[in-house]
Amino acid sequence: MGTENPGRPSFPARPSSTPFAAPPPAVTPFLSSGPVAGPGASSFRPTSPAAPPNTLPSVSSALPAGSDGSGFRPTPPARFNDPSVSSPPITHVPPTSGPFQRLPTPPFPSMAQASLARAPPVGPQPGQYLPGQVSNPSVSFRSQPSPVPMGSPPQRATFAPPGVNFPQPSSDSSFSAPRPNSQPSFTPVDSSYPSARAPLQPSLPGYATMPPNAVSQMPTTASPFPSHQGSYMPGPPPAASPFPSHQGGFASASPLAPGLHSQHSAPPVGVMQNLAEDFSYLSMGSIPGSIEPGLDLKALPRPLDGDVEPNSLAEMFPLNCHSRYLRLTTSAIPNSSSLVSRWHLPLGAVVCPLAETPEGEEVPIVNFASTGIIRCRRCRTYVNPYVTFTDAGRKWRCNICSLLNDVPGDYFAHLDATGRRIDIDQRPELIKGSVEFVAPTEYMVRPPMPPLYFFLIDVSISAVRSGMIEVVAQTIKSCLDELPGFPRTQIGFITYDSTIHFYNMKSSLTQPQMVVVSDLDDMFVPLPDDLLVNLSESRSVVETFLDCLPTMFQDNVNVESAFGPALKAAFMVMSRLGGKLLIFQNSLPSLGIGRLKLRGDDLRVYGTDKEHALRIPEDPFYKQMAADLTKFQIGVNVYAFSDKYTDIASIGTLAKYTGGQVYYYPSFQSTIHGEKLRHELSRDLMRETAWEAVMRIRCGKGIRFTAYHGNFMLRSTDLLALPAVDCDKAYAMQLSLEETLLTTQTVYFQVALLFQMKFFYIFHLFVNINKTTFLVWEIVHMLGISLTIKRYTASCGERRIRVHTLAAPVVADLSEMYRQADTGAIVSLFSRLAIEKTLSHKLEDARNSVQLRIVKALKEYRNLYAVQHRLGGRMIYPESLKYLPLYGLALCKSTPLRGGYADAQLDERCAAGYTMMALPVKKLLKLLYPSLIRVDEYLLKPSGQVNELENIMKRLPLVSESLDYRGLYICDDGFRFVIWFGRMLSPDIAMNLLGPDFAAELSKVTLSEQDNEMSRKLLKVVKKLRENDPSYYQLTHLVRQGEQPREGYLLLSNLVEDQIGGTSGYVDWLMQIHRQIQQNA
Ligand SMILES: [Zn+2]
Repeated sequence: MGTENPGRPSFPARPSSTPFAAPPPAVTPFLSSGPVAGPGASSFRPTSPAAPPNTLPSVSSALPAGSDGSGFRPTPPARFNDPSVSSPPITHVPPTSGPFQRLPTPPFPSMAQASLARAPPVGPQPGQYLPGQVSNPSVSFRSQPSPVPMGSPPQRATFAPPGVNFPQPSSDSSFSAPRPNSQPSFTPVDSSYPSARAPLQPSLPGYATMPPNAVSQMPTTASPFPSHQGSYMPGPPPAASPFPSHQGGFASASPLAPGLHSQHSAPPVGVMQNLAEDFSYLSMGSIPGSIEPGLDLKALPRPLDGDVEPNSLAEMFPLNCHSRYLRLTTSAIPNSSSLVSRWHLPLGAVVCPLAETPEGEEVPIVNFASTGIIRCRRCRTYVNPYVTFTDAGRKWRCNICSLLNDVPGDYFAHLDATGRRIDIDQRPELIKGSVEFVAPTEYMVRPPMPPLYFFLIDVSISAVRSGMIEVVAQTIKSCLDELPGFPRTQIGFITYDSTIHFYNMKSSLTQPQMVVVSDLDDMFVPLPDDLLVNLSESRSVVETFLDCLPTMFQDNVNVESAFGPALKAAFMVMSRLGGKLLIFQNSLPSLGIGRLKLRGDDLRVYGTDKEHALRIPEDPFYKQMAADLTKFQIGVNVYAFSDKYTDIASIGTLAKYTGGQVYYYPSFQSTIHGEKLRHELSRDLMRETAWEAVMRIRCGKGIRFTAYHGNFMLRSTDLLALPAVDCDKAYAMQLSLEETLLTTQTVYFQVALLFQMKFFYIFHLFVNINKTTFLVWEIVHMLGISLTIKRYTASCGERRIRVHTLAAPVVADLSEMYRQADTGAIVSLFSRLAIEKTLSHKLEDARNSVQLRIVKALKEYRNLYAVQHRLGGRMIYPESLKYLPLYGLALCKSTPLRGGYADAQLDERCAAGYTMMALPVKKLLKLLYPSLIRVDEYLLKPSGQVNELENIMKRLPLVSESLDYRGLYICDDGFRFVIWFGRMLSPDIAMNLLGPDFAAELSKVTLSEQDNEMSRKLLKVVKKLRENDPSYYQLTHLVRQGEQPREGYLLLSNLVEDQIGGTSGYVDWLMQIHRQIQQNA
C-alpha cells in the first residue's frame, strides 16, 4: 500500500470480505438506520440556560456550497506528485533558528498570499451542489402492523409447550397488598421547586393528550424479564429530617399478598403454578386518608442498583458469552410472528464487542495456525461451544445452519463415551462463549497499515481564546509514548482558520516547517511525503511543534473557519493508510466547501413539520465525506468547543458514520474544563482500539437482523464498517422472524469482529524505562526472551477475529418472553429508536412513541392475566420490566428528547444524541437515572471503618424529597458530578471543604483539597466514583440549594421523578400509562 498514491480516486483494498460471507465491495453509506451518535462529553454539562442562538456576523450570509459542484469531488489525481503540474501555491517559510522562529507569530493572513491569484478565500461562492446525491439517514422506527388491537380482550395466554425446557425462575417477586381500587385521580403533583424549574421550560404537552389509538411506529417485539427487587432501600436515617413524611416513605416495597392466584380456577399445568411470580402490580387507587393521587410514591420501583445484568440465560446456557458483550431484549425468542407482533417492545440485541473485562479475566486467544480457522462451509459460522461432533470425531455439525462439516485432519480428536472430544479442555473455542482467533493472511486484503493519528485543529480566534489549543497540544505530547503501534506509528497535523496550514515534520529537520495554502476551492496537499511522519523518527520535531503550537497562534485574530477544505486536505493525506482523525472544532465552518449556515434554533419551527430538519445535516458534503472516510478506513472523533452554534448536527455526521464519537465542551475554557478534555483526549488516544474493523452478527435459520442502530456505516446489508472501535462503543440491532413458525428449540447468535491489532505492549514496558526503546527491544529479541505483558503480545499488525456466541431458547409463550425481558437492552434500543425518530419527526412525536410502546406492552401483558385474575384498577407488569416505565420517563426527559425550543440548545441536543447512540447499556442507564448519594454523614464520621466508602454509595430516589437541606449530596450521571450543598448544611462542613470560599457563590468555586480530613475524604469519594466510571471524566460542579438558575439545570433537572416545568412526574407518568392501558381494556 505504501506506493499507492493518496490522491488517486481508487480505493485501497478493503479488508473485509474474506472472513465474512462475501460482502459486496462498496460501502453503502446511508443504509445505516443508525442515526446520531458519538459519545460526547459534554452534552451533559450545564449550558447557560438562556443563551440565545449566536450570530457570526461574517457567516450569516454564506451560501452553503463551495465552488465545485458536488458536495465532494474525488481528490485531484496526483496533483502533487506530477512534475507536469504547475507548482502549487505554497508559502515556504524560510528557516531560521529556534523553534518556529520563522513563523512570525500570527503568520496569517499575510502569509497566505501566495495563492491569492486563484480565488478569494472568503465570500460566497456561486456554488451549485447536488442535494439529492445523498439521502437523509433513514430513520428506523419502521412501523409494523400491530395486530393486537388496543383493548381487545385477551384470548388467553399461550403457555409453554412441553418441548420448551425453560427453567422456571425462582419466585422472588413480590406483590403489594391490594389496595382499594378507587379510580385514579390525576391531581398534579406539586413541584417543590417552581422557580428552579422555570429555566427548564414547560414542555411535554403531548403526554397527557396522547390519543389512545395512536399507532405505534416502533416495531413490535418481545422482551424478557429478569426479576430483581427494585425497591428502594432506605438511606441513612435522616435524623430529624426536614421531610419527615417523605423520608421514611421510601422504605422497601410493601410485602406482597400471595395467594392471588389461588382464588381462581385451575391454570394450565406447569406455568400457572408460578403465576404468582409472573407479575407485580401497583395499586392505582388513592392512598387511604390522602388526597394524593392514587400511587404510593414509596412503593414505586426504582433502579437504585443501576443496571443489573440478567443472568437467567447464563444459568441455562453456561457456555454463552458474558452479557457485557451481547444482550438480548428478551432471552426467550418467540417462535412465531404472531407472538412477535404481540410483544410491543423492540426485539433485538445490544452488542459491545470489545467491552472491558474485569481484572484477571481475559478473552482467550486461539491460533489455528496452518489448520486454518474452523468455520462452517455454508454459513461461515465460527466453531464454538455449541457445535456438535459426530462420526467418531470426523464431522461436526454447525449449530446455526445444521450443516455437517468435515473436521480437518489437524483438528481431529477422538470422542469419549458421551460424544465429547477428548481434548475439549484444551480447546477454549469449544468451551468459551468468547474467544479471539488469530487470523491468517488470507483474512487480510492489504498488508497491515501502521497506526496513524492525524489532528485537525481550529486555530481561529475563538479557539485561541478558549485555551483549547494549549490543552490539546500538551495532552497529545504527554501521550506520545503511549500511542499504539510503536515504532511504526505515524502522526500528522493540520491547523486552519481562513487558510489551511500544513506542517512538514521530516526527521531531518530540527523544527517543523509550516506551509500555508489559501486556495480553498481547489484543495491540494503540498509536500505529500512529509506531512505524515514516523513518530519515532520525527519525535523531536513533533515535540517542538506541540510546544510551539499554542504560542504560534496566540495573537491570531482570524474569525473564519475553512473547516471543509481542511477536512478534505486531511482526508487526502490520510487516505493511503487510514487511521484516526481527531478534529478540534471551535467555530462554525464559514469558508469553502462544507461551509455551514447559521441555521439557528428557531422558536417558530418547533412543533411544525420542519423541526426535525434542524437536527440533521443540511449540506450533503458531510455525509459524503463520512462515506469516503469510512471507505478509506479513517475513523473520526469530533471535539467541539464553541459557546456559539457550530452545527453539531452536520459536523457530528463525520463521527457517526465512521464509528467515532462526538465530545462536546460547550463554552470551553481551559481553566474550567481543561482537566476533562485532558482526560478524555488521553483515553481516546490510549484506549485499546481495534482498527479497520468489520462486524457481523449471525443468527440461526428463521430469524434475521433487520435494522442496526449506532455509529457505523453499513457495508452490504449486515456488515458494519468500523474504521476504529473500542470498549466504549455499543451497537444495537433489531431482530425479526423470517418464517411464520420456528421449529427449533434453541437459536444461536454469533457476533464476529474482524480487526487489526496495533498494540505492542512489550514496548510500553521499556518506554517507561528507557527512551532508547528500540535498542532494548532488539536486544530482547536477540536473546530470545519472550515476554507476556498485559493482554496482548501480538506483533504489530496482526489481524484478529473476536467471536461471541450465545444460545437462547425458543418459546411459544408470550408470558415467557416477558418474564425473560432485559430492561437494560430494551431501554438501549428504545433510546436509539427514539433519537432516530427525532431526526425525522417532532420531539413530541418521539416521546409519544416511547410512552405508547410501554402502554402497548403493558396492556398486552395485562391481557395475559385479565382472564384468570380480577385485576381491578391495578397496574400490572412483569417483574423484569418493573423499571421500564421509569426509564421511559427519564428518556423523555433526556437532553436529545426533552421539551422543545428552550429546553436544550440545539447543539447540546445533537451532541447528546450522538453520544447516547453509542453508549453501552450500563452507561446509558446511569445517564438516564443518575446516582444520587448523601455524603455529609460520612464526612462527619471518624474514618477508619472498613467498607465505609461502600456504605455511603447507597443511591437515593431522584426526587426532591431525597434532599435534606442540612445535607451534602453528590449526583453522578457518569458525565459530571454535581455536589449539592443544602441551605442549612453545617458551616463547619462547608468551611472544611471550601476553605475561604465557603460563603462565595459556588459557580465561581472549584473543589480543591483543603488541609483537613474532611476535605480529603470528600476527594477520596470523588476519586472513587471516577475510577468506577472511567470512560468520561466527571468534572465537579458545586451548587448551593436555592442558587438559581444553576440549581435548576445542574441538579433539579436530574431529579427525573419530579414534575419539572411542564413535564410529568413519575406518579403522573404511571397514571397516564395506566389510564391508557385501561382504555378499551
Ligand atoms: Zn453453518
